[in-house]
Order: sequence, then C-alpha cells, then structure tokens
Amino acid sequence: MERSSIVPTTKIGTIQKILRETSMQWGLIGASRIAASYMINAIRADPAASITSVLSSDAERGADYARTHAIPNSYTDLSTMLSEAEIDTVYISTTNEKHRDQALASIAAGKHVLCEKPLAMSLSDAADMVEAAKAKGVTFATNHHLRNAGSHLAIRELIATGRIGDVLSARVFHAVHLPEHLQGWRINDASAGGGVIPDITVHDADTIRFHLDEDPVSVVAKAGVSGLGEGVEDSVMSVWSMPSGAMVQSHESFTHGFAGTGIEFHGAKGSIFARNVMTQEPVGSIRLETARGSEELSYSTHNLYERSLGLFNKAVQGAGRPSADGIDGIKSLAVALAVRDAAHSGREVQVNYEGY
Ligand code: NDP
Repeated sequence: MERSSIVPTTKIGTIQKILRETSMQWGLIGASRIAASYMINAIRADPAASITSVLSSDAERGADYARTHAIPNSYTDLSTMLSEAEIDTVYISTTNEKHRDQALASIAAGKHVLCEKPLAMSLSDAADMVEAAKAKGVTFATNHHLRNAGSHLAIRELIATGRIGDVLSARVFHAVHLPEHLQGWRINDASAGGGVIPDITVHDADTIRFHLDEDPVSVVAKAGVSGLGEGVEDSVMSVWSMPSGAMVQSHESFTHGFAGTGIEFHGAKGSIFARNVMTQEPVGSIRLETARGSEELSYSTHNLYERSLGLFNKAVQGAGRPSADGIDGIKSLAVALAVRDAAHSGREVQVNYEGY
C-alpha cells in the first residue's frame, strides 16, 4: 500500500530542508555544573536544537552525566567526538586551561563555538581562538551571561538615552560566598584558571564595558586571600580609568556571605542603583534617582542563558551577532589580566588589548 499524506511530497521535502538548515546539533565539551544547572536546559529551549554528545575526561562520569541529562553519546576523546558525533556547534565549559586547545580543535573541525569565560589563560591564547574561528568562517561567542539580563538591558537603556547624563563614575560589587560545591579548582588551582579574578572580575569587566560602551584604559588594584583561597586570590578591589574620564570601582570576592551584589552608575543628571543583579537569575531591583525624584524600574525577567543562546543561534544562521562575541571575550579577559597584574605589581597597569 502506498503511503499517503495530506502534505504534498514536494512540500515535505522543503520542510525537511528547512528543518535541516535551522536545526542545531550540539556537543558539550565538559561534563560541568554550569551545563547541568543552566546551559543544557537553555540549549533545549530552542525546539530546533538537540544535544547529541558530551565529552568528559572520565568515562564513567561522562556516561553517568549523559544518562542523567538524556544525551545519547559520551566520549573521552575530543577528536573522536568531533569526527563521529553529529555536531554543528560545541559549548565549551571545561576548566579554563582547556578552553584554548578544545576550541582550536573544534574550529579546525568546522564547528561553531560558544565558549565559557574566561576564554583562556592568556590574551594571546584567546586571540588564537578568535582568529582561528574568523579564518574558518565559524561563529564564535563568549558566554558572558550578564549582558543578557533584563535588568542590565534596562540599565544600559537608561545610560544610552541620557537619563543620568554623562557618566562620572560606576561601582560594581560582586562579593559573594562561593558555595561549597563550586569551591574545588576555583579556590586552589591556579593552573586550571582558579581565583576570583578570572572567575568574577572578568564578568564585571564585560558588564561595565557593555554599559559604558568603552574599554578601561588603566587599572590599579589590591588582591589577597581572605579565608578561602589556597595559592589564588579570593578577594580583589580595583579602580579603572575609562577613556571618557569616568572612574570605575570594582570589588569581587568568594568570601562575603551577606554583602549582596550590585552595580551603580552616577552621572551629571542622576544615579542608577541596582541591587542583586550580578547573578544568573532574572532578579534584583533598579532605582533611578534624578532631580525629579526616585523611580523604581521594571524590566523583562526572561532567562539570561536562553537569550544568549537565541542570539548565538541567529548569528550562526547569519543574522545579527552574539550578545558577547570573541572580541568581547578577549577585551574582558584583558581587563581581568590587567587587574591581576596591577594587584601583583602594586603599580598602575595600562590594559593591553593587543590591538583589538
Ligand atoms: P565544574 O567544576 O563543574 O566543571 C569543570 C570540569 O570539572 C568539568 O569539565 C569536569 O571535567 C570536571 N568536573 C565537574 N564535576 C565534577 C565532579 N563532580 N567530579 C570530578 N570532576 C568534575 O565547573 P563549572 O561548571 O563551575 O565551570 C566550568 C566553566 O564554566 C569555567 O570556565 C567557568 O569559568 C565557567 N562558568 C561560567 C558561568 C557563566 O555564568 N557564564 C557560571 C559558572 C561557570 P570533565 O569534563 O573532564 O568530566
């Protein structure tokens, strides 16, 4: 008996072609907590996306992770995964020292790359990744989630539309208590990219760059160990000079249980006070103070990671750009490295963007 359908065969062919062109098959590089907690769900929020495989250095843990998250395949060797599994795009969320080589191998295999922050351990490594993606013609992005928050989009709009006038100064405070399950390499392994500066300062640098649309010129800083770090800093304070003349004060720590997070911008015509917004969740408050009085701002409470992935997917299809591209990843890393350099040397450090 012939198969019958209410849709003509030619149309089915066209629909299948469109589905093939718009579907995205993901490989996860790293059986990480960030993927388990946020990114797997965010990837799957797009009905055209699927996760075909996961890479872990430990076969048993990888297989267990794959089972837990309904991922069909797990691998321990990246080149095998890249050649065997159906993958268009990889999401890299291993420890930081692995990002460079894993990104370069994926790019060489023609895969688009969404890489976790910090992009790499050094600026030249990060630049190698971004340049390789450019040469290969694949999309490359950095997972700086905060620029996707409705709160930060609202703050950026206030600044861009002149509601506080010229920005004179900014203050970001992102001193939290690092939960015990995240402590591991972050507090004791410099060779894996541990320490509060690569972990949090890099996010704050990206967020300030996003709001002010300019890149810090120079920084001074003090960093230290205030109870958690072993061989890496767990607390840092720094001051950055911006090209516009604005000054930025930044505080990151793993040891502050009750400080709360926030960001403030002070301008000639007003001030913005945002609280509890340096976070992975769509929460927090924003208050605008001007000569007209005080105003609480509302904002969209969409999922930060889903927005990031939505823009990334569109960029892969040739429309628009990711919320934070590779150059954003390089520049935000450059600021973090300058803060570390300034804290170690005790001197003011010019931020070296290596020409980017
Ligand atoms: P994890 O420690 O969870 O994962 C990093 C690596 O550690 C994994 O790739 C895995 O290795 C190994 N690992 C994970 N869990 C275990 C375990 N239970 N036992 C033994 N080994 C384990 O790191 P995170 O998810 O916190 O961070 C990963 C990356 O993502 C970092 O680059 C970090 O900076 C970034 N990040 C970004 C965030 C954002 O919001 N943008 C938030 C949090 C992290 P293997 O794969 O070999 O199995």
